[in-house]
Amino acid sequence: MEFYSTKNKELSFFFKEAVLSGLAPDGGLFMPRQIPQFDSLFLRQLPQFSFHDIACEVSKLWFGDVLTEQQIKTLVQDAFNFPVPLILQEKGVAFLELFHGPTLAFKDFGARFMARLMSLLTQNNTQKLHILVATSGDTGGAVADGFANVPGIVVTILYPKGKVSPFQEYQIANKAENIRAVSVEGSFDDCQDLVKKAFVDPEIRENLFITSANSINIARLLPQSFYYIYTYAQLMGQGIRDVSFAIPSGNFGNLGAGLLAKKMGLPIHSLVAGTNINDTIPRFLNTQAWKVNPTQSTLSNAMDVSNPSNWERIWSLFEEDLAELKNTVYAYSFTDEQTLEAMEEMRLEQNYIMCPHTSVAYLAAQKFRQNQPGPYAQIVVSTAHPGKFKDSIPDSYSDLKKRMSLPSHYEGWENSEIKFVSIPNSYDDLKSFMLK
Ligand SMILES: *Cc1c(COP(=O)(O)O)cnc(C)c1O
Repeated sequence: MEFYSTKNKELSFFFKEAVLSGLAPDGGLFMPRQIPQFDSLFLRQLPQFSFHDIACEVSKLWFGDVLTEQQIKTLVQDAFNFPVPLILQEKGVAFLELFHGPTLAFKDFGARFMARLMSLLTQNNTQKLHILVATSGDTGGAVADGFANVPGIVVTILYPKGKVSPFQEYQIANKAENIRAVSVEGSFDDCQDLVKKAFVDPEIRENLFITSANSINIARLLPQSFYYIYTYAQLMGQGIRDVSFAIPSGNFGNLGAGLLAKKMGLPIHSLVAGTNINDTIPRFLNTQAWKVNPTQSTLSNAMDVSNPSNWERIWSLFEEDLAELKNTVYAYSFTDEQTLEAMEEMRLEQNYIMCPHTSVAYLAAQKFRQNQPGPYAQIVVSTAHPGKFKDSIPDSYSDLKKRMSLPSHYEGWENSEIKFVSIPNSYDDLKSFMLK
């Protein structure tokens, strides 16, 4: 399969290059020149398939020429060793719980799959592979877990100082020897800019075999398409054909993966983004004006992104046709007050506890259903375990807080040692750390 760069369609790359370099040499994102298509038999048989079946079939379409069927099967079984429940609620809404992996957030899907894929693709190399990644919260923990103790790989994780939760920091900075946590005095966008600079720096590229693990890597996006297909398969088994997904969105990787599933031939009704007040995309869809405001901190901190790096990809999937895009993609933004109120209401009315990110998507789903009533099933993509965000909830919501606890096997994490390096928001500091 051939890939192009979103910055220059003329250049071609192979799957292995796209996965191992993360970002194209010109700074663009990799996109498949032709998106593999499901055949009609696969689509008809969907309801009979397990999550692993679907993951294997879709993987074969993308890189069946690079890995053997057995390698793909082992990769899928190792990566997805946790359940993916669909929790039906009242009023035609269901929650797709993607937080039952080791770091209790959906990023485990992408990170665990990518880590194992990269390790397979580099098993004959002599040089160490450096992974450099910026995180607004959950990516870091998922990447740290995914790559922990993988031989031949060193991982450097940048995160904005004081802007991730203590639990997120613990997940980033309490891992194996080959995982290096770097606390940056700046915002997530600053961290992301530093990473982007490193990838286009000739000196870095010359000295290190370096790649990214952000949601910009195609190997993270791909496994995220599996759960859209799996959910559709389950609903299809119940005779449902029209499915809308509401997705808590920051960098728009998750939503991009849903779109990828649609472009592979999954007949998804719509994809609805919920954002917090970092609302570049909802404003763009409303006004057609691209204006990036300074990033603001919110309760849904993994979505505190004002310049979403996957948007270029989504834009390119629709060949920059805004009208076409607006037929499929909808976006709404909500404040922290609205987010908290929805969490509280859900607890009182349906006895279900959402994390703040999921709550934003739930609000978006409700708004979408008001604007576009129809017989479609509405799935709310639940991206994190609520227990991860207990400390950020105001004490005035004491009953809600009480219900937001971590699964019991995480008890006592506060007492674990963490290890990180602090740097200012300066590219020179990052560079010397990397080349040291
Ligand atoms: C990363 C993250 C998001 C945002 O996902 P994107 O793919 O960046 O849009 C939403 N919720 C949680 C819990 C996350 O960790």
